[in-house]
Amino acid sequence: MKFELTVLGSSSATPTAERNPSAQVLNCDDRLFLIDCGEGTQMQMRKFKIKFQRIDHIFISHLHGDHYLGLAGLLFTYHLLGRTKELHVYANAALHEIIKLQLAASETSLLYPLIFHELPENKSAILYDDDKIGVNCFPLLHRVPTHGFVFRQKFTERNIIKEKIAELEIPLEELSAIKKGADFTDKKGRKHPNTELTFELPPAKMFAYCSDTGFSQKIVPYIKNASLLYHEATFMQDMQASADAKQHSTTINAATIAKKAQANKLLIGHFSARYDELTNVLEETRSVFPDADLAKEGL
Ligand SMILES: [Zn+2]
Repeated sequence: MKFELTVLGSSSATPTAERNPSAQVLNCDDRLFLIDCGEGTQMQMRKFKIKFQRIDHIFISHLHGDHYLGLAGLLFTYHLLGRTKELHVYANAALHEIIKLQLAASETSLLYPLIFHELPENKSAILYDDDKIGVNCFPLLHRVPTHGFVFRQKFTERNIIKEKIAELEIPLEELSAIKKGADFTDKKGRKHPNTELTFELPPAKMFAYCSDTGFSQKIVPYIKNASLLYHEATFMQDMQASADAKQHSTTINAATIAKKAQANKLLIGHFSARYDELTNVLEETRSVFPDADLAKEGL
């Protein structure tokens, strides 16, 4: 089952010639989840050939402009393209008022149902859950209410070993129960445990998204054992005082959180425009957490 992330923006605060503000798309079995929607996100989705009509759920971490100013444009585009299916937006309550005002000012009544879900203030919550994926939010440490998100892959059905169907003469009507984990008793009354009939499930992947945040160990339990952790690293370590004052993180902060959370891999982003070149940013991060990479547009 596909579980793929595409980075659409890696810049903090202002866009640069090379970097767009925050946005990422998670593809879970061809259902797309948009995470943050900085200015220019819809152009980035076209550029990187993201099938953005497949997005039904949009998660906005907080209401600093570099994380949501692209949303209104995207909502209007869906309307102009004749979208009719529901679109769910998960964000701070104030965003709902902003969107309503923008729609009212242009006398637009959307062709599709826009369903707004308020994120709970300073709390974690389950936002979405189906047979393939679960999404939770949790609070981050920032100057305005901010949430991180965790996406957990789920496997509810096991794949049957095809040869076993003929070998044990398994009737068609039994297959669905076996996929769900049932054992099988053959005509001779012999019981075959499910593990003999199906392939072992692959480990479920987990993606955690943390932007923006000051260094906070409180987030560790929410993101524990992430297969991939995205954590902002706006500054290098020499700017720690500035990072603390603005409630942002440094390379070392991000790497320390990844280590404490025992993440499999770390992706850093939300880079300050002061860094043209990111080699030192990556090296400093890897000095604490070796399996780290830079978020880059199109990655
Ligand atoms: Zn922010």
